[in-house]
This record gives sequence, C-alpha cells and structure tokens, in this order.
Amino acid sequence: MNSQIIIKNLIESVDYIATSSRRDVLISSMSALEKSGIHCANCPGTCCTSTSNSMMITPLEALEILNSLMPKLLIPEEKEKLISALKNAISQFRLDKEIYTGKKNSQTLRRHYTCPFFNNGSLGCGLSRKSKPYGCLAFNPKIHDDNGKTCSSQTELLETRQAEFQNFENQLNLKIKTELKINWEKQNIPMAVLEMIAHFYT
Ligand code: SF4
Ligand code: SF4
Repeated sequence: MNSQIIIKNLIESVDYIATSSRRDVLISSMSALEKSGIHCANCPGTCCTSTSNSMMITPLEALEILNSLMPKLLIPEEKEKLISALKNAISQFRLDKEIYTGKKNSQTLRRHYTCPFFNNGSLGCGLSRKSKPYGCLAFNPKIHDDNGKTCSSQTELLETRQAEFQNFENQLNLKIKTELKINWEKQNIPMAVLEMIAHFYT
C-alpha cells in the first residue's frame, strides 16, 4: 500500500470521533472568553512567535493539521509556499537540531520558534480551531488586552479533555506511528507537518 492510501485510511480512522468534538471543551472555553471581551485580537502573537512559542505536537495532531491543509495542497503554488514556510522555520530556528540537556534523562531542550501558521497582526493563527493543537487552544489570555503578559495554559481543561479521549488517542497515535514508521512521541509543528506532507507525497 502506498503512503497516500495509508494516510487517507488513517484520516478516516481519526474522523471516527470527529476532530472538532475532541476539541469542544477547549473551543467552548475560548469562545466564552472572547464573548466576555478577553481575546487575542490586539496581541502581536507572543505565544505563536519565537518570543515564547515552543509548541510540540503528537503524530495525531500533525495528521489532523495535514487533513485541514488538503484543499491548499491541491494548489501547486500554495503547496510550494507552505512547504517553503515550513522549511524556512526549521532552518531559521534550527528545529532539526536537538539539544540534549544531559545523558541522565536523555532529554532534549524544546526550541523556541515562530510558527509558520502564524499570520502577523490580528489575523493570528492560520489554522482552524477544529484542527489546532490542543496546547494552542488551551493557551489564552486572562484579562483584556493582556497581550501575553499573564496568558497561561488552561491545564485543567487540557486534563479534562485528555481524560475523556486519552485511550482512543493513544491507540490512534500508535497506529499512525506504526503505519508511517514514525519514531517520535512529540515534535515541533514545522517538522511534524512537513513529515506528514512528505509521507503523503511519497
Ligand atoms: S498552530 Fe496557531 S496557535 Fe499554535 S503556535 Fe501555530 S500559529 Fe500559534
Ligand atoms: S494567548 Fe496571549 S500571548 Fe497568545 S496571542 Fe493571545 S493574548 Fe497573545
């Protein structure tokens, strides 16, 4: 079976519990904050740029992003533009070079980077909420015009979401890793999405 068919089959498995319903609790909270006037509209995007972004995603989240990008990938110029933006981010922020923090735990340092899906100004994230990484959806301002000063992750909501879907998502991540021969648990967004695109077109 070629990679494109494997990915299409995987995307169908992921849709078993719709990607948006697994994000509902986070999207509802974000919408409620926005309704009360607490939003990111005036922020330069502190949490999406190299100022403080070091988001890592699972193979499942990368596949969900790939699925949301399919219409764009059908247009050759858009596809090239996207691949080039991903490669530029990897090169600029050296995202393919791991920094080991010590032999003891074999841990690597998370690098900061400007996300290639970030649009400057009030446009913000270019991904739909239905396909955005959970960590991104959970990171919100607490007060009006906070602009990154006290924004934080809604960890309780992340834990609630995870408790409900962990088993299902663990199985999906294992299936994706096995079928696409992926050897990482989490990866930065540009590397993860570029790898998914490469799998789809080989
Ligand atoms: S995916 Fe969107 S919200 Fe997350 S870091 Fe990138 S631009 Fe920001
Ligand atoms: S969550 Fe905070 S830092 Fe991130 S874009 Fe919104 S206001 Fe800015």
